[in-house]
Amino acid sequence: TDFGYQKVAFEEKAGRVADVFHSVASRYDTMNDLMSMGIHRVWKRVTLERSGVRRGHRVLDIAGGTGDLAAKFSKRVGDTGRVVLADINSSMLNVGRDKLTDLGICGNIEYVQANAENLPFDDNTFDCITIAFGLRNVTEKSKALRSMARVLKPGGRLLVLEFSKPINPVFSRVYDEYSFRVLPQLGRLIANDAESYRYLAESIRMHPDQETLKSMMEQAGLERVDYTNMTGGVVALHRGIKL
Ligand code: SAM
Repeated sequence: TDFGYQKVAFEEKAGRVADVFHSVASRYDTMNDLMSMGIHRVWKRVTLERSGVRRGHRVLDIAGGTGDLAAKFSKRVGDTGRVVLADINSSMLNVGRDKLTDLGICGNIEYVQANAENLPFDDNTFDCITIAFGLRNVTEKSKALRSMARVLKPGGRLLVLEFSKPINPVFSRVYDEYSFRVLPQLGRLIANDAESYRYLAESIRMHPDQETLKSMMEQAGLERVDYTNMTGGVVALHRGIKL
């Protein structure tokens, strides 16, 4: 049946994503800086500013990987708040935990291995949830969005930071060239791993554009969904509220 095929495809994607992130974990931060030319730091800074997170808040950073956002949130929420850094991949989670511990970030943060599609938290737990460059790796995106909506508190915000569709068609072609030619080459030269970076380019191209993601978030039960394009739409930050 169709469902049989779908199940195999889902398992294949999940397996591929696991391979990619086990393989890149130790070099992830360096490659991130290199491939985005450092701009991912700006995208994450904007995410922090638009999150509305304050002292005492409970925050979940799902697909949090090596913990850039979780580190910022930990400082924001202070000792009365709580941050959960969750990721499906043990290698990424270990690199993140080591990095944050070395930075002296501890006390209000915990690490949880979890699948975004099936979050192991009670309903109405978090004031804010972020997923940065994570959703495109998730097999069942709508299921993941519903799961996030469920564990948000009423009034809580979901922020999705993700690659999106460049607005200018000329720029879009240059960007395509960059992601399909330059990225895998860089991956081969620096990490001896062209395959992982080819996956990266493909997953970026396949990901829903700004308006599609907006309606997916609305269908998952989020309200007042809006988005901000950054770097000409290379990346978009979507935000929705659970009412
Ligand atoms: N958020 C970090 C950042 O912005 O630097 C890491 C992003 S990294 C490109 C994507 C992360 O998504 C990986 O750490 C991967 O393990 C995680 N991931 C993939 N599928 C997932 C899932 N279904 N549930 C939770 N995390 C997942």
